[in-house]
Amino acid sequence: MDHRRSTRTAAAVAAGLLAATTALVGAGTAGADPRDDVKVPTAVGYGGAISTVDPEASRVGLDVLRKGGNAVDAAVAAAAALGVTEPYSAGVGGGGYFVYYDAASGEVHTIDGRETAPADMPRDAFIDPATGAPYPFTPDLVTSGVSVGTPGTPATWETALDEWGTYSLKKALKPATQLARRGFVVDRTFHDQTASNAERFAAFPATAELFLPGGEPPVVGSVFRNRDLAATYDLLAKHGTDAFYGGPLAADMVHAVQDPHTDPSTDLPVPPGYLALDDLAGYEALLQDPTVSDYRDYDVYGMAPSSSGGSTVGEALNILETFDLPGMDDAAYLHHYLEASALAFADRGAYVGDPAFVDVPLGTLLSDDFAAERACLLDPAAAAPKPVTPGDVDADDAACGETIAPADSDTENVSTTNLTVVDGDGNVVEYTLTIEQTGGSGMVVPGRGFLLNNELTDFSTVWRADDPNRIEPGKRPRSSMSPTIVLRDGEPVLALGSPGGSTIITTVLQTLTNHLDRGMPIGEALAAPRAAQRNTASVTAEPEFIEAYGPALKAYGHTLVPSGDQFTSAAEIGAATAVQIRDDGLLTAVSEPRRRGGGAAMVVEPARP
Ligand code: GLU
Repeated sequence: MDHRRSTRTAAAVAAGLLAATTALVGAGTAGADPRDDVKVPTAVGYGGAISTVDPEASRVGLDVLRKGGNAVDAAVAAAAALGVTEPYSAGVGGGGYFVYYDAASGEVHTIDGRETAPADMPRDAFIDPATGAPYPFTPDLVTSGVSVGTPGTPATWETALDEWGTYSLKKALKPATQLARRGFVVDRTFHDQTASNAERFAAFPATAELFLPGGEPPVVGSVFRNRDLAATYDLLAKHGTDAFYGGPLAADMVHAVQDPHTDPSTDLPVPPGYLALDDLAGYEALLQDPTVSDYRDYDVYGMAPSSSGGSTVGEALNILETFDLPGMDDAAYLHHYLEASALAFADRGAYVGDPAFVDVPLGTLLSDDFAAERACLLDPAAAAPKPVTPGDVDADDAACGETIAPADSDTENVSTTNLTVVDGDGNVVEYTLTIEQTGGSGMVVPGRGFLLNNELTDFSTVWRADDPNRIEPGKRPRSSMSPTIVLRDGEPVLALGSPGGSTIITTVLQTLTNHLDRGMPIGEALAAPRAAQRNTASVTAEPEFIEAYGPALKAYGHTLVPSGDQFTSAAEIGAATAVQIRDDGLLTAVSEPRRRGGGAAMVVEPARP
């Protein structure tokens, strides 16, 4: 059966926000001004809901819902707005994964809008010819043309609207275009992300001109406009994505990648890349089946490869299903969560890559038999030495302990953004989109107002024939993005997702188990301190997590180290969004109260407190 089909060719043709648990955070610059900088982490009500990391983007999506647009229309409109206000996390220069629950049919669909490797990309692309060794990952490899994959985001938007939306691309892009022209208020997060990227951005005159006006990051409270991006959106509105995957804009992207225009003062090597006009012209967003795992009373739908999100979250849940998580104390629960995650990450490393190039044993990875084989290696009393070895998918017989040689483990960096939308008809969108690192490749396409991704750094740096994530022309690098929709008895009850590189998987897993097994209300489940065990010697954890659970988990043998990211200097994991859907139609939209400066949840008709 063909689980994937391409759609681009077809597509080319064609305030009263206050709710129960709220805190208001804002620079207070608005007044009579239309700019929206009030952040509300939780909103409860009816008729539709949206959660993103940004109030302007959530407002754009909410307005679409209020005007009768569906969840897909609102998701695309909000994503385009995030391209304006969160340009270091996502935009038309990147890719992502779109999961959609269709209320009319009860089916879950997905779009793989992942970037692809250019046809001319050699297997040793990440090796510095001067030294014969890999380029240092950050900032050298990340800040390059060689890391730029063929963007998938415009094709994703067009495909989603074409398949399930009611808006044209033109209509969906309009609010974001207006937002780019009138500008948004710079907050501390935007300022700090710019400052952390200042060296990289200064390496490219086009980037410095846009994001370092006068040589400095934009001041907190000032208004940031992006007229070039507005013009790019206008171009897409007028001509569709053909104007992105061909024509002068495509030529500009190719030129930026193949011959990066750098400032003479930069010390960064900025190796040129391979993106060519043919790569852009041939790009296809893929419609494909979701992954599904039955977990206790629920069916958990996620993203199939090229993302490892659905298979890894699903496998870890299947392992955890064999234990009584609700009956455990906090430390025992977290120990099981960390160990199940390590086991699933071992299998992710060994088996998951782009299925167009690699034979991924997805059915086995998501089977209860395989989970049982893995679960029997989980010692309820002690942490296993890491890395744990992958399971043997060829011995899928529920026998304990059959493993194969270990694969490399990885610890990707953090960026990306995520949004959740539910409309009044019960359609649900969970969408994670990214340009990889915060600030992507650092390269703005001159005069076009957007950053190009560095997604290809998600490939393994050093080529090995047995590595499912090795570089190959045309291939999608393995992702961790995990947009997830949970159904019970065929009805959606929860949708969630997060940024955070490979910690996306653990954030989604931890939030799910916090809520489904430990009974935390969804806002609490999402806000709770996080830890990520990605089959590495130590567990990456937020300081609050270490403080709360460090001693108890140490007794199990876990070593916890604080999280951190050089491009955001934030000791935090993820920036999730979620919407919970009750039988009676009550929607609870939640975003981060604090991480990444806090998010913005909104509902169409707020419930009376
Ligand atoms: N490139 C990452 C992935 O696809 C996402 C980037 C991030 O969240 O840091 O898994």
